[in-house]
Amino acid sequence: MEETRTKVLIIGSGPAGCTAAIYASRANLKPVLLEGEQPGGQLTQTTEIENFPGYVNGVQGLQMMSELRDQAMRFGTEIRPRTIVKVDFSVRPFKCEDERGDIYLADTVIISTGASAKYLGLPDEDKYKGLGVSACATCDGFFYRNRVVAVVGGGDTACEEALYLSTLAKKVYMIVRKDYLRASKVMQQRVNDKENIEVLYRCNTVGLFGEEGVEGAKLVRDVESDNPEYFDVAIDGFFLAIGHKPNTDVFAGQVELDEQGYIKTATPSTRTNIEGVFAAGDCADPIYRQAVTSAGTGCKAALDAERFLMDHNEL
Ligand code: NDP
Repeated sequence: MEETRTKVLIIGSGPAGCTAAIYASRANLKPVLLEGEQPGGQLTQTTEIENFPGYVNGVQGLQMMSELRDQAMRFGTEIRPRTIVKVDFSVRPFKCEDERGDIYLADTVIISTGASAKYLGLPDEDKYKGLGVSACATCDGFFYRNRVVAVVGGGDTACEEALYLSTLAKKVYMIVRKDYLRASKVMQQRVNDKENIEVLYRCNTVGLFGEEGVEGAKLVRDVESDNPEYFDVAIDGFFLAIGHKPNTDVFAGQVELDEQGYIKTATPSTRTNIEGVFAAGDCADPIYRQAVTSAGTGCKAALDAERFLMDHNEL
């Protein structure tokens, strides 16, 4: 068992974690960043990113995350391919344990473990990932101009995604398993007012098909009735919007989470209910979930950690 002592431990390597690392290392805090199970985070799953400021011609998700990582290393961040599986935030230094049993003793911790989009669990979702299946309309919608897409889900996110896509795509289907939308009234109204959005109620997706990418979805209406109706819709893109799950299970009982599992922070700061533990990015953000907002809170978390250490004469 190896033991590492650090002033700042950053857990997670998406835009929030990397930005926190850039700031903390430039402040000479010599942070240790643990990459987690998905080094680079959700952006490594997308193709081109066109809405991150500064990239005039867009950038591949993998490339951007690799550059952010290099930028953090340039100033002395130590990056390790490890995942935290257990934490004890009851006393300082905080104690975190990785999957190999190695221990990190940290004066401050920045949690930036992100969130994961929920998928239906169909094998076809994996088969067509990046080939028509997406969980982010803002990221990928642009590639479906004048084409036909489907959004799965009936909540506010699904409506928002469908409305956004309706400005680009020729036609948007919403695949909703109930006979009503769960979304707020105002969102429902907006969806209903859009001529190119068609809501398919009481429908579930059973599969996708297509030669080199998605060309259609196989649906079933009234799956639990005596008379389920099976039919196909021709689509070019299949967007999941059935919710996100913050990657915070390991912190349950250690920092305060909301009912959905997001880490509660004392906004506008990134402070959690434990002094010296900060949270940044999607693990603490049920609303915006953008790369640039995550990077912004990562910056704030590093500044908050630095100030905390200064206040405790631990710089
Ligand atoms: P929600 O949990 O509100 O909605 C999820 C939707 O996905 C529901 O319609 C649900 O169906 C459906 N769903 C879940 N699992 C499946 C499945 N396996 N198969 C088919 N459908 C499924 O999540 P959201 O991400 O939409 O919203 C999360 C929170 O964020 C909410 O509180 C929302 O109000 C808020 N939000 C607010 C926004 C705003 O105000 N502008 C924008 C975005 C989000 P069912 O209804 O049958 O359970």
